Amino acid sequence: MKTILIIEDDVLLRRSLLKILHAEGFELLEADNGQIGIEMIQNQQPDLVLCDLIMPDLDGYGVLEQLRSNPDTLSIPFICLTAQHERSNLRRVMELGADDYLTKPYSKSELLAAIQAQFNKQEQIQNPTSISESETLIQLVGNFNDESHINLSAQLNLQSKFKQIIRDIISPDQSVPVFILSLDRLERFQDYLGTNYGDILVQAVINRIHDEMQRAGFVVKLKSEKIALVLPPISDDHEIEEIAIKLLNCLSKPIKISDYKLLLGCCLGVSLYPQHDDDFDNLLIKANIALRQAQQQGTHSYFLYTNEIWAKIQDRFHLEIDLHHALEKEEFTIHYQPQLDLKTGKITGAEALFRWRHPQRGLVPPIECLSIAEENDLIVEIDEWMIRQVCQQLKQWQNQGFQISVAVNVSGVKFHQRNLGRYVMQVLKQTNLDPSCLELELTESVLVKNPERSVSILNELKNLGIGLSLDDFGTGYSSLSYLQKFPFDTLKLDRCFVQDVNHHIKNAAIVKATIVMAHSLEMRVIAEGVETKAEQEFLRDYGCDCLQGYWFSRPVEAQVFEQMLRANAQETTTKPLSTLEH
Ligand code: C2E
Ligand code: CA
Ligand code: CA
Repeated sequence: MKTILIIEDDVLLRRSLLKILHAEGFELLEADNGQIGIEMIQNQQPDLVLCDLIMPDLDGYGVLEQLRSNPDTLSIPFICLTAQHERSNLRRVMELGADDYLTKPYSKSELLAAIQAQFNKQEQIQNPTSISESETLIQLVGNFNDESHINLSAQLNLQSKFKQIIRDIISPDQSVPVFILSLDRLERFQDYLGTNYGDILVQAVINRIHDEMQRAGFVVKLKSEKIALVLPPISDDHEIEEIAIKLLNCLSKPIKISDYKLLLGCCLGVSLYPQHDDDFDNLLIKANIALRQAQQQGTHSYFLYTNEIWAKIQDRFHLEIDLHHALEKEEFTIHYQPQLDLKTGKITGAEALFRWRHPQRGLVPPIECLSIAEENDLIVEIDEWMIRQVCQQLKQWQNQGFQISVAVNVSGVKFHQRNLGRYVMQVLKQTNLDPSCLELELTESVLVKNPERSVSILNELKNLGIGLSLDDFGTGYSSLSYLQKFPFDTLKLDRCFVQDVNHHIKNAAIVKATIVMAHSLEMRVIAEGVETKAEQEFLRDYGCDCLQGYWFSRPVEAQVFEQMLRANAQETTTKPLSTLEH
């Protein structure tokens, strides 16, 4: 018979719980405060604890903390009872290691289902499901935590099982594969169906793996919707591919749970003992790195870890650290790529392009450093720095009598922060710049995330008097309805359509149609990436307004651009200038 301890300071609630659970045949213990509760847990080792969250003196958090820090009580299931208005505290209590929670008022069936789910889980841990009765190790080891290793007992369990497996290696060319499998839609199913279904689903996945693999090994549920799988030694690396495909195939069929047929998206990362590491924790980390690579390739992919990826990750990591200090070390700079009016041959402005001059590596390709910056929000600092620098520079050029506009690229992260309009307004005021000289460039992919909100942000920017240009047109989700909704002044035709436009019939058709359409919507068209005279002539003949590209000039430093402005003021026709990027 199972014993349940109820820790609840509200007498009426406590009595009602006692009554319901007594009728179900449980042995019951009760405590009206946390301190007594903890003593009872230590002395009587109940099978499950139901605990109120808010209590005088020692509250539910305190009880849980003490419970989880003592090896004897660490694995006792803990369900917390919480009032509706305390829901925001749930994250904390789940992080401290609660197994489940019930929000008051809960129904009798909810209560009993939550308790039953915990007992079922415990049973699985104590009685691992086996593939072949004699030697299998496959089992679900609770909530083993792959990042912070909170659940020490599960970790130790896993380590010892791993050691058992590597003991079976009989020849030096054998290796032990460690797989990590992501269950990509598990979180979504849990949101719809509840966490209990999540556990059942994971168990169903494990059962399916058992049926399919027909060999010994062990499976562990990791944190964050992942499963780790360790199989006995293999002699041939081809076997890994076979196993990976088999695993992915078996999980690509729907899993039936009560009335639902659920289709999980999975990816697989693999590392090998001893080639990639001889420490089990490190093998898990490396399989996880491989998993991330697989996920980039799309659902149902797998990836075998390589030492080269590790080198790449290390390199990127060092670059990221350096990037954090680059702004204060004044390593950032801006290159300007001129934009030319195709009718007059005059420079009308430029696109400002971010450059990082790394002290050892030299110029780092913007795509590389900006993708790192996007991952950790450094991109916001970069975007703000670019806007401010460009406005200051533009003011100087205005003072010298150059009437040009400069476009600054804005990332999706910065665009969707509510304060972009305010920031631009502030900089315009501080630099006392005519707003019509500044243009912001945005890509469609940034806008489509939330079109309604994007329209309102764009209108706010437009009201400041600055220009807006739609970057990389044609490469994203190009919906014509956006063109009509969004208040853009300029459309930038992407390089992929401009390339070979004079030979390529389809590109030519797209370019011609886009120019006509943009003009009828009163937008100016800039062709990007123009590299030849023939492309330039084609664009001019079909009424494109401006060009930007290596044919006229690569992006150049501010002083070089300034010289070009001077020279161009005296020129009458377009011709290529000497234009190597520094
Ligand atoms: P983008 O906005 O499409 O910028 C145009 C890119 O095309 C620039 O690459 C430019 O050097 C290159 N390009 C210009 N003309 C030609 C040509 O004739 N042929 C070829 N092959 N390429 C040409 P860059 O400077 O490497 O920048 C790459 C991307 O990085 C930019 O694409 C933009 O998305 C992003 N980026 C650059 N600067 C910034 C910035 O300050 N902030 C943000 N958020 N993104 C930036
Ligand atoms: Ca751009
Ligand atoms: Ca572009």
